[in-house]
Amino acid sequence: MGKPTGFLEYERVENRRRPPLERVRDWEDLYLPIEGEERLKQGARCMNCGIPFCQAGVQFEGKQLGCPLHNLIPEWNDMLMDGNYAHALARLLKTNNFPEFTGRVCPAFCEQACTCGLYDAPITVHDNERSIIEFAFQNGMMKPRFTQNASGKNVVIVGSGPAGLAVADQLNHRGHCVTVVEKHARPGGILTYGIPNMKLPKSVVMRRISLMTDEGVSFVTGVDASDPAVARRLSAEYDAVVLCCGAEEPRNIGVNSDGVSGVCYAMEYLHAASEQTMADQPAAQPDASGKNVVIIGTGNTASDCVATALRQGCRSVIQLVRRGMEDYLDPSGVLPQDYAQEEAESVFGEDPRKFGQSVASLQTDENGKLVSVTTKNGDCYPCELLVGATGFAGCRADVCEAFGVERDRTVKTGKGSYQTSVPHIFTAGDMHRGQSLVVHAIAEGRAAAVEVDRFLMGYTNLL
Ligand SMILES: Cc1cc2nc3c(=O)[nH]c(=O)nc-3n(C[C@H](O)[C@H](O)[C@H](O)COP(=O)(O)OP(=O)(O)OC[C@H]3O[C@@H](n4cnc5c(N)ncnc54)[C@H](O)[C@@H]3O)c2cc1C
Ligand code: SF4
Repeated sequence: MGKPTGFLEYERVENRRRPPLERVRDWEDLYLPIEGEERLKQGARCMNCGIPFCQAGVQFEGKQLGCPLHNLIPEWNDMLMDGNYAHALARLLKTNNFPEFTGRVCPAFCEQACTCGLYDAPITVHDNERSIIEFAFQNGMMKPRFTQNASGKNVVIVGSGPAGLAVADQLNHRGHCVTVVEKHARPGGILTYGIPNMKLPKSVVMRRISLMTDEGVSFVTGVDASDPAVARRLSAEYDAVVLCCGAEEPRNIGVNSDGVSGVCYAMEYLHAASEQTMADQPAAQPDASGKNVVIIGTGNTASDCVATALRQGCRSVIQLVRRGMEDYLDPSGVLPQDYAQEEAESVFGEDPRKFGQSVASLQTDENGKLVSVTTKNGDCYPCELLVGATGFAGCRADVCEAFGVERDRTVKTGKGSYQTSVPHIFTAGDMHRGQSLVVHAIAEGRAAAVEVDRFLMGYTNLL
């Protein structure tokens, strides 16, 4: 399998990001993917190491080693090397329902575990994955698949993020009748309303929803299942319920903002921006256009807020990071930048992060409009929009109470199980494991589907 000398013959070549000053002017994809002969060479770099840690997917001392989905990476790299996209696709879809999402936003635990990376640069697993699934979509290989044997059981999934979509996809192909209920106007969860278009184009999310709809999954949007009457009806009418409502409860921003206008949480800000890009509408509120923006926090969410503010035409943007810079340096002492910091530096000439800083007080004008932010170190920054990207405290209480399931920070289940305190109600994704990643949400959704299937049928043939 693989080309034993490929890693010696070919350099690692990643998908290139568009120049920062060009891409901040639009909401289009950050990357220019490499295709054709060069992509096949990248597959050929996978070198038959014999110990594919990349697909191990284990947790060791709190760290994730290898792909949580156990993607069959060496197999599909081998097929990619031969240009056999059909076979590569079949092996990829065996373990991953949505490679078009992970191939864009996954942090690629596989590459951190790649044997080739021990001495040289790892294989471009993440980009290869994207290439296989995009080739398939663009060449008519992603056709609806139908199951011959209907089970006669019906399942409702509450929440349409990657966890809910993975449960739905698995159970639908197993032959159960699947309905997905979503409170927002569009399905997709954070894929649709959180991660901005340049990282994950909304057309990519809707393309998958449309395929799943063609395959028989029913999506019902605009229904809030935290309404006790709705929860009672769903619980009574369906053989099984799977709660995949995410970890929506934001962590406090750490300063009193009562009565101050111009302060919001990241999801409120990104939701409005997503609506704006999807519907091609004029600026929705909150909006950063012409404003001095301060983002509290670091990580994916904070970066997405910085990048969104730049695209909306903010006057300035800074990021307040509580811990010191030394906590973020890589082993060679360099401070890594992601796409958003790279963009902010290109536009304003410096990295937007201010380390070791947190907000002490907010200053407003006579109408309660925010005008500046003072930090605990005494620095004062002009600010008309303050966005809290301080993480998530867990799932919302209202939906758990409506369904009568026990929770603490997230919904309670037995260890390694997805069944809640109410026997026919299950849970998966961030609502179960806490704020996490798309790849973990898909893995949770697949594992929960196995348990739901066993509950409904007495056995399961889902892998
Ligand atoms: C801004 C941001 C950027 C991120 N970037 C990345 C990234 O680059 N890479 C990565 O791997 N991960 C990223 N993540 C994390 C990732 O998006 C989440 O871990 C993942 O989406 C969790 O999936 P989920 O299905 O469990 O929940 P969600 O995606 O949160 O979906 C939950 C769904 O349930 C719905 N819902 C909630 N309550 C109800 C109700 N009462 N009735 C009906 N529907 C309800 C919600 O509207 C939502 O659609 C990011 C997260 C954020 C917030
Ligand atoms: S899902 Fe993530 S960890 Fe798994 S193979 Fe793809 S990029 Fe790697």
